[in-house]
Amino acid sequence: MPRITLEKKIHSKKPETGFFTRIEKDELIQLVQKLVDMKGKGLGDALTALWKQQKHMGFILGNPRPKGAWHADDFLYKEIGSFTLVYSPARKHRGDVRFLIKRGILSEHPRFVYELYEKGSYSHYPEAHHEYKDKCFLCSADGANPNEILLPQILCDAEFIYGANFATLGHSHFTLWTRVPLLQTYWSMDTLQWLCCHGDKLQNDDFTTFFNGLGAGNSIRHYHYQTLREPFPIFNAEIRTEFKNSKISRLEWPMPAYRMDIHEKENRCDRLSYMDALIQAWLQMSKLKTFNLAHRTAEGISTIIFIPRVNIAGKCRPSEIGNNFGGCEVCGRINIEDKKDFVKFKKSDAKKIEDLMEELAPRSGHIDWLESHLS
Ligand SMILES: [Zn+2]
Repeated sequence: MPRITLEKKIHSKKPETGFFTRIEKDELIQLVQKLVDMKGKGLGDALTALWKQQKHMGFILGNPRPKGAWHADDFLYKEIGSFTLVYSPARKHRGDVRFLIKRGILSEHPRFVYELYEKGSYSHYPEAHHEYKDKCFLCSADGANPNEILLPQILCDAEFIYGANFATLGHSHFTLWTRVPLLQTYWSMDTLQWLCCHGDKLQNDDFTTFFNGLGAGNSIRHYHYQTLREPFPIFNAEIRTEFKNSKISRLEWPMPAYRMDIHEKENRCDRLSYMDALIQAWLQMSKLKTFNLAHRTAEGISTIIFIPRVNIAGKCRPSEIGNNFGGCEVCGRINIEDKKDFVKFKKSDAKKIEDLMEELAPRSGHIDWLESHLS
């Protein structure tokens, strides 16, 4: 059975000396790519095989354990109505350089690339330099994370890099980012096309992929999505209003959320242009408008959900929760970084969770104006 052999081969790859050499990394990437290209498999299964390999060698953070291994107990789940609360302690460490060196995620002397976003211009520099003070953890991955395997993939015409997210949210959690640094903002049509193309390559109905606009849960400004092997609750939400002409539906959900389903035989570009127009209308209202996206491909249908957000104080997170809400949380898969918050809210009912999310909804007048663009 060649398939089993390939997945096992990927899973069992370890560095000879404690750190992967360039050659060892390339061998592993080639094995993963074979799985991406294999009939009956695809990118989704390949990511899972790579995630298991990375987890096995301690690259994925959970609770610090003697051997650095990840364990399922590191996540505590609680289903509340249609929502899921997840205690996710690994998230707290995602920018903590000293901790990450100690845990062997970063090398002893990591080389970082720095980013600068000023006056609408976004740029990088290969070392700390004048105003370049913020680390770009994505561009730094190759020089700072010795055991991270970076898988390149072409989405439409753009090159993306896939890397397992060490501050994991769950099963097969990967970040995918543009090789050429672009700002984490909406790129007309491309943002949607890349998502759909990624969904095609997954060949796996379990994954949800999401996007956090600036001030809508992003912690990095370099353009990226996150994907994990879990369908998010929002994909089960009922339809509240159907806008017949655009075939966009508003969902029955605590925050305004708009869904578009694209069937295999439809002209994807034509369909996406309606969603593109809606997102652009929202963002053009003011500089404070931002958004989340979620995507899933299931049974050949590519589904995009758009959630308009506002980048102002009081709308980034519910007042009673210590971490920001991004695409994952507003889609009902609510990650909670602080154990006290988790213990408090796991006893609550669905109404309470709805209230938390409603706090983040934009003003209803602005939503009415947005919906006037839909027909
Ligand atoms: Zn970068």
